[in-house]
Amino acid sequence: MALLADYHTHTKYSRNHHGKGTIDENVRSAYEKGLRQIAITDHGFNQKMYGVRRKDIPQVKKDIEEAKEHYPIDVLLGVEANLISSKGDIDIIDSDYDDLDILLCGFHRLVKSTSAREQFGFVLKNIFCELFHHTSKKQREKNTNAYINAMRKYRIDIITHLNHACKVDVEKVARVAKETNTLIELNGKRLGMSDEEIMTCYKLGCKFVINSDAHSPNRVGDCHLGLQAALRLRLPDNVIVNYNDLPTFKKQKEQKKRSS
Ligand SMILES: [Zn+2]
Ligand SMILES: [Zn+2]
Repeated sequence: MALLADYHTHTKYSRNHHGKGTIDENVRSAYEKGLRQIAITDHGFNQKMYGVRRKDIPQVKKDIEEAKEHYPIDVLLGVEANLISSKGDIDIIDSDYDDLDILLCGFHRLVKSTSAREQFGFVLKNIFCELFHHTSKKQREKNTNAYINAMRKYRIDIITHLNHACKVDVEKVARVAKETNTLIELNGKRLGMSDEEIMTCYKLGCKFVINSDAHSPNRVGDCHLGLQAALRLRLPDNVIVNYNDLPTFKKQKEQKKRSS
């Protein structure tokens, strides 16, 4: 029984020392820990402090190709995109899909929204909610709809650390995650969801992925919080896509469909 992949890792391309290691170091760490697949998923483009720059993506791809030559392990290119508005916009444009093997999405602070109104009413508002440990019903609804719209509008593979720093109605988000085949992450270092909320996702038929969210190479594959939750709640192996198995992500599925 083991996790075979880690689909959420950051590198130096998450700027300003936010991510600590190189792509080669993350890949080496994954290989040494016996993983068969790793994704490099730096913060999305609208995170002006920490995000990877769109113009760096060709270099990221090159680094990935080099790392693949050094270690016999599969490496995917992704980003952890940001939810940037209450309408469900995320910081991905159509042409990004050509580059990305996998798309993660979560809510993060310090992101540039689509308008001043959204910057205040969505991004800043959620920062205040987090600060004061209180999210109004109205804000929660807004956040819930943002996630729902994002999953319907974009080819998102994984929702990262759901309910962390952006409170939602987990049941409503889970219904649409199931409908759109979007995986719910059990994050290795910050679980935004309560046990009850994780069970709600499970009962609605959602699939999970357990990731490290490593910001340094030594943490790659360290998924203890997510794993503990899965064990504690006795989630069956087959609902965790990277447990004893490797999933197929949406781009790959589309490519297969097209070629058959
Ligand atoms: Zn994140
Ligand atoms: Zn992350």
